Amino acid sequence: MTTIEYVLGDITEQEVDVIVNAANSSLLGGGGVDGAIHRKGGPEILAECRELRAGHYGGGLKTGQAVATTAGRLRARWVVHTVGPVYSPTEDRSALLAACHRNSLRVAADLGAHTIAFPAISTGIYRWPVEHAAEIAHEATKDAPLDLIRFVLFDQTVYDAYARP
Ligand code: ADP
Repeated sequence: MTTIEYVLGDITEQEVDVIVNAANSSLLGGGGVDGAIHRKGGPEILAECRELRAGHYGGGLKTGQAVATTAGRLRARWVVHTVGPVYSPTEDRSALLAACHRNSLRVAADLGAHTIAFPAISTGIYRWPVEHAAEIAHEATKDAPLDLIRFVLFDQTVYDAYARP
């Protein structure tokens, strides 16, 4: 049985095994939640991301994929970086947004994590309509092999969309 929680707050403050980063394919940092994680987590996370780029992920992380690093100075043990799809009004990219969630859960479970926090992937710079992103996130995180999934939402509108029963 997985507990699902909704929190209005900052994902970098969460004391969970894994926090998920809405990264971009370069893995080398960006704005939004990505910027916050690297700022607060310190240079160790970026150094590990550079190693991933120098190795298996030479071409970057593809949309929908997920990969882990340690979490530097954050309270979490690991950061799982995933790349959400940019919203398109003309093309249905829902399966990629679902894949981000599923692959992040799989990577977390492989690490031995029990608890995970997700931001509202793709709802910021990538412009996904929040209600729809929330629906996809819920569907994709059902039956997860973890004890706790916490959605950490940065503002009230996004919180309301995710936490709505
Ligand atoms: P994307 O490129 O996937 O849209 P963003 O980081 O721009 O990623 O935004 C994703 C969501 O994360 C947005 O709802 C944004 O408000 C939120 N966000 C930004 N900073 C934080 C943070 N520190 N903690 C939790 N959520 C955050």
